[in-house]
Amino acid sequence: AALVLGLAGCAGTRAGDPGAQQPAGGDNKGALIGVAMPTKTSERWIDDGNNVKAKLEELGYQVDLQYANDKVPDQQQQIESMLNKGAKVLIVASIDGTALSQQLAAAAEDGVKVIAYDRLINGTPNVDYYVTFDNNKVGVQQGTSLLQGLGILDAEGKDTGQTDKKTIELFAGSPDDNNAHFFFDGAMSVIQPYIDKGILTVGSGQTEFSQVAIQQWKQETAQARMETILNGFYAKGGKKLDGVLAPYDGLSRGILNATKAAAIPNPIVTGQDAEKPSDKLIMEGVQYSTIFKDTRLLGDTAATMVDDLLNGREPKTNDTKTYDNKVKIVPTYLHDTHIVTKENLIKVVVESGYYTKEEVESGQ
Ligand code: BGC
Repeated sequence: AALVLGLAGCAGTRAGDPGAQQPAGGDNKGALIGVAMPTKTSERWIDDGNNVKAKLEELGYQVDLQYANDKVPDQQQQIESMLNKGAKVLIVASIDGTALSQQLAAAAEDGVKVIAYDRLINGTPNVDYYVTFDNNKVGVQQGTSLLQGLGILDAEGKDTGQTDKKTIELFAGSPDDNNAHFFFDGAMSVIQPYIDKGILTVGSGQTEFSQVAIQQWKQETAQARMETILNGFYAKGGKKLDGVLAPYDGLSRGILNATKAAAIPNPIVTGQDAEKPSDKLIMEGVQYSTIFKDTRLLGDTAATMVDDLLNGREPKTNDTKTYDNKVKIVPTYLHDTHIVTKENLIKVVVESGYYTKEEVESGQ
């Protein structure tokens, strides 16, 4: 308890403030850090967990890394257990961004600081920092790449003047993930003007977030929804599907499974995360695009924040306006993201050392 109180005392003071406490580095060397990740069903979270763990260990900390299999009660219980084991800081990528208030209140009582990782945690004062990618920009990039694939925008994102009418469908992520709303709103900010002009039509008429969202980001659910839509609106002699807004590579692959089974030409399909199986499909010209998020940078930033907090330094942030969790605006560090297509995949994903050429070619 003494150590915990010491941390609570120093974490709120700025290094260099008159009266700031001595860096707590000595005491906190080897401290336990709890890292709660949502699921192993998607490659990116496995990479995230590994990156964060490696970086924390490099800085001399012990790490309790847990995956919750997309189950909220599991994640709640894992966080409780991290606190019981004496974790000094928590890094949490939530499943349901509104379901952790009780656990985080317990953390605050113990003086344990909480860093929301990639996904904002909502409805609690007990989240201290947020590290993520620019989520609105991800959505804008997804919408932009859909329009580029359809020939409506050029490589620079300028309108090409094309007025051919195209038919699209829209998908969004899991409603309990704060990011899903940012992605959809960002994408629609560039797509909606072309719906309004009559250049784009959503064949199913399903345009509301609640109609297009896929619970828990499940590939099978996206595939089933795409199959239902194809049967209902695009069956023989019906419309031709030109493009699909997909916010995550797992959903993109579900959508492409459905179009393949229906034996129709591949529509332009977007994605996110540059997962290996999708990289392969992009190289083969099946999936059109993805958004590359370098999780190595995110892991480094989260681990550096932990080290700052435990040494009485104020963590660096670069956005203190955007991420309102309904109780407070959470100070945030945002990283940049990149549209990836067949044209630049090798350069962005392989030459940066993220995946090898063999991995993106084999999809494994
Ligand atoms: C992440 C995305 C990811 C999605 C599904 C989101 O919170 O920001 O990168 O595609 O979850 O795992």
